Amino acid sequence: MSPTHTPRKRRPALTKILATLGPASDNEQTLKRIIEAGCSLFRLNFSHGTFEEHKERLELVRRMSYQLNVPLTVLGDLPGPKLRVGNVPGDGIMLEKGHEVIIRSDIDESRDGEVALLASDYPKIVDEVLPGHRVLINDGAIRMLAVHSDEKGLRCAVTTGGLVTTRKGINLPDSELSVPAVTDRDWEIVDWAVKNHIDYLALSFVRKADEVLMLKRGLRQRCEDDKCGSDLSITLTDSSIPVIAKIETPQAVDRMDAIIEAADGIMVARGDLGVEMDVAEVPDVQKRLIRACHTVGKPCIVATQMLESMITNANPTRAEVSDVANAIYDGADCVMLSGETAVGNHPVLVVETMNRVALATERALRRAETPEPTVPEKLRKKREMIPALAHGAWHMANDIGAELIIIWSQQGGGARYLSRHNFQVPILAFSSNGPAVRRMNLLYGVFPVLWIDVPAHRSEFAELVDRLVVDMGWVDRGSPVILLGGKPLDKPGSLNTVAIRYAGEMIDRAGATQTSAQRKQQEEAEHPATAGTGA
Ligand code: ATP
Ligand code: MG
Ligand code: MG
Repeated sequence: MSPTHTPRKRRPALTKILATLGPASDNEQTLKRIIEAGCSLFRLNFSHGTFEEHKERLELVRRMSYQLNVPLTVLGDLPGPKLRVGNVPGDGIMLEKGHEVIIRSDIDESRDGEVALLASDYPKIVDEVLPGHRVLINDGAIRMLAVHSDEKGLRCAVTTGGLVTTRKGINLPDSELSVPAVTDRDWEIVDWAVKNHIDYLALSFVRKADEVLMLKRGLRQRCEDDKCGSDLSITLTDSSIPVIAKIETPQAVDRMDAIIEAADGIMVARGDLGVEMDVAEVPDVQKRLIRACHTVGKPCIVATQMLESMITNANPTRAEVSDVANAIYDGADCVMLSGETAVGNHPVLVVETMNRVALATERALRRAETPEPTVPEKLRKKREMIPALAHGAWHMANDIGAELIIIWSQQGGGARYLSRHNFQVPILAFSSNGPAVRRMNLLYGVFPVLWIDVPAHRSEFAELVDRLVVDMGWVDRGSPVILLGGKPLDKPGSLNTVAIRYAGEMIDRAGATQTSAQRKQQEEAEHPATAGTGA
């Protein structure tokens, strides 16, 4: 009996890397190398491409997970009320400063000409954008001012030119829009995501907590029909798909605590954030968002332009390397690649670069004094066991210099608490629950392992895992490790024990003393009440 997945031989960074899939990365060869370079989370951006394309990408990821024997996680990104330019023919339309452009929602295809015509996917753009309002394209790279609207469309004057290509985003930071937070198109994608068992869904342009809750309600209804599992707030096996709120508007920044409470995690979506509010505010907002997530133990993804220049170049800029490192110093669980892996020239190299920066930053973090984590007041008051166990484990790990934390975390709740404690060593988290394993993958430092054939006894788990971590080279024989588990291992809420062990000690002992079958017999004799209860 051994885990269904085996942990990787070469340990990737503790920081997770989320790569957007696109034409540059959605073939077997490239994807395999991206995974080997340290990436285990993939984003399907539903703003680009068809369902068929996404289905192929999803199946490719699932197939690679099976072939390479590693858990891989897929996040679906819902466009939300994000406005976009419709199709643009050829290589794009070049807009020059001072030129006039007309935006229309009644055409499918943009057109170049004396006056460029841009198609918009938002029917009310002509009515809701007023003269003087800013109209920005491609995360603000192209800037225009609305001049006036008439039956021909919305006339704009270009103030900063650039190349417009298909489905680039439009930002209207001055306009009051009546787009719903979750559009009809989003609900179509939600249905698809439920049917195809996507692991996370991200919602773009969240403005308030209610919008997240509305999506979660819709998901829950759909998942109940689909019978995906149970519902427990601290776990990662909620029946429906967990929701990541993309923070990219000033309204969402103002309401960050409520949104984080409603969501299962957030993404600092800096592309749109840097357009919707002053870009100079973004670094501080990033730090505040990460801190707020950390307080409640929810994962935080930092996204956009992390290694942008590598879309074309083989080397990142120094500023980009610093940016990735600083996101990790801020406490991000996960750093994301967008165009770099979706359409870039160096999809593998960019993941290798990101992983290398993460490893170097984590080495520096390990050398630094880590502040003692605190148990949130709310949980202390509730006298909850898991936060206390994680807190205790942190002290033990710190005092003994543990090199690895091992936990059986059936629903991911235990792993989530451990993750927010900054152990700066890997947390190997076992579970027999497939969705929980894939969802745990997003958490800083957590390396989930699927183990379908649950060990019947804690001692058997300890013994098998003891051998495994030495064999796989995660720690040297004799290194102190911390082991957490409950009885039976896979019973939700059973987690109750923290122990210090030395890797490989059971291998020595097994030969000298008793076999695991003998030990099992002895355990059953000692604990007749729990013996054979399934596990
Ligand atoms: P968002 O605001 O959700 O991040 P985006 O348009 O910025 O949307 P990204 O996923 O960040 O999209 O990717 C950056 C760019 O890479 C896109 O603008 C697009 O030009 C290109 N791209 C991304 N994914 C795809 C894809 N699947 N097919 C084609 N082009 C893509
Ligand atoms: Mg965005
Ligand atoms: Mg983007």
